[in-house]
Amino acid sequence: MPQFLGKARFREDSDLPEGGLIAELEKIVGAEHVLHSEADIMLYSSDASIFPGVPPCCVVLPDSSAQVSAVVKLCNKQGIPFVGRGSGTNISGGAIPPESGVVVAFSRMNRILEIDTAGQRAVVEPGVINLDLKNALEPLGYTFVPDPASHQVSTIGGNAAENAGGPHCLKYGITTNHVLGLELVLPSGEIAHLGGEANDYPGYDLTALCVGAEGTLGLATRLTVRITRLPEETRTMLAVFDSIVDAASAVSSIIAAGIIPATLEIMDRNTIMVVEAKHSFGYPSRAEAVLMIELDGLKEELNRTSPGVVEVCRSHRALDIKTAATQEESALLWAGRRGAFGAVARLKPDCYIMDGTVPRQKLPEVLAEVNDICSRHRLTVCNVFHAGDGNLHPLIVFDSSDEDEKGRVLRAGIEILEVCIRVGGSITGEHGVGIEKQNEMAMLFSPDDLAIMRMPKEAMDPKDICNPRKIFPLLVRGV
Ligand SMILES: Cc1cc2nc3c(=O)[nH]c(=O)nc-3n(C[C@H](O)[C@H](O)[C@H](O)COP(=O)(O)OP(=O)(O)OC[C@H]3O[C@@H](n4cnc5c(N)ncnc54)[C@H](O)[C@@H]3O)c2cc1C
Repeated sequence: MPQFLGKARFREDSDLPEGGLIAELEKIVGAEHVLHSEADIMLYSSDASIFPGVPPCCVVLPDSSAQVSAVVKLCNKQGIPFVGRGSGTNISGGAIPPESGVVVAFSRMNRILEIDTAGQRAVVEPGVINLDLKNALEPLGYTFVPDPASHQVSTIGGNAAENAGGPHCLKYGITTNHVLGLELVLPSGEIAHLGGEANDYPGYDLTALCVGAEGTLGLATRLTVRITRLPEETRTMLAVFDSIVDAASAVSSIIAAGIIPATLEIMDRNTIMVVEAKHSFGYPSRAEAVLMIELDGLKEELNRTSPGVVEVCRSHRALDIKTAATQEESALLWAGRRGAFGAVARLKPDCYIMDGTVPRQKLPEVLAEVNDICSRHRLTVCNVFHAGDGNLHPLIVFDSSDEDEKGRVLRAGIEILEVCIRVGGSITGEHGVGIEKQNEMAMLFSPDDLAIMRMPKEAMDPKDICNPRKIFPLLVRGV
């Protein structure tokens, strides 16, 4: 739970005129768009991670790039740290404010500025909700592919900052593959334009550098994104297995057979049970694992590939394989998968949502190790994950008021990441490093690797005020 530490003060030696920072910010965005009551500060002090909140000094709600630029210029002049905020669904603590810093929340900058189907792009403000963009595109026969399970609430700005993934990223790529250009307010307050409408621009690919930078290199105020034609047909299949190892092996074999489904998602027995108990979606209770396969493309193509999928699943001892007969049936199967994170809340009050990737052919052995680690630490884990990407999400449930259990959860988390690294994987697939895994970065990268990675941050944000003290190990810096 976030701890409210009392109304925070910023620098005592500030040279701001009378009224201080709040008055100056109010001049930029209007008094009603600067929040600084204790309740507001507490609301914005934390994100969806398990880490305690840190109270900001205040929250500003700008309405334009010019206002964001003016706010950042003021922060820069005064050496006040700031953090951008979409919907605060970040799981790695990346949206937790710097102490006594300013939160720049993008909820008012939520306009879809342009949709250009001929050019296959849209221009949006950062506070546009992912699903709102999808809903605006659907009647035109288009979609914005990145589909994090949080798509009903997370923003395009937050998706870009975290380089979000989702089920459909297996076939179509993660968010970075769908961001063509950025208007970025740099930590100095200057406005930079990176990338744009063309397919390729000369020079360094700074758009790609800033997508996934977790809001540490500047604030995105406008994004040009790729939009993708909706497929002619979609087929959702559910294969039931009595072993999660068989389900995971089927994933590699489907891809090895030359079939790239739009999605390959696995839920294990614990997850199936909680999802069923909450919603009665009709997942079979005898299943140890279900594999959700979605194929999309031309009808003829699906007629050709779907028998291949069935054959591969059978060869991995699938007990049952069914294809959703209607769009409603398909939507129901998806609702179960998307609701899985929420459904596990039935088990215990808290949940540590882990995120790591492994080469997909290593999934069977890694899943067995994840389950061993959790049972050794006497913890309940639900595995629900983007299997096609080798992106694991062990959901470890616990009660944060039980200090001993909390300690075991954190130890199990480190051990799971060690396994991911040992088999050639990574400590995060999509949720970012934030504060959660900043020290674990040193498990994955050498000091030299980290020093190179730090260079853009030091060049673009020499005062270290833009979402500071995130991503990089604090221990390496000697902090
Ligand atoms: C139930 C649940 C399911 C989830 N499922 C997925 C999933 O399937 N895939 C996935 O990838 N993630 C998932 N997430 C994590 C989270 O939803 C994503 O990281 C999402 O992209 C964050 O968007 P947001 O708008 O909430 O951003 P926030 O949480 O507000 O911010 C995230 C980061 O982006 C920065 N930021 C926000 N806006 C800007 C901006 N305009 N410019 C610069 N930096 C900015 C913030 O400073 C912060 O560091 C899930 C989270 C929850 C709670």
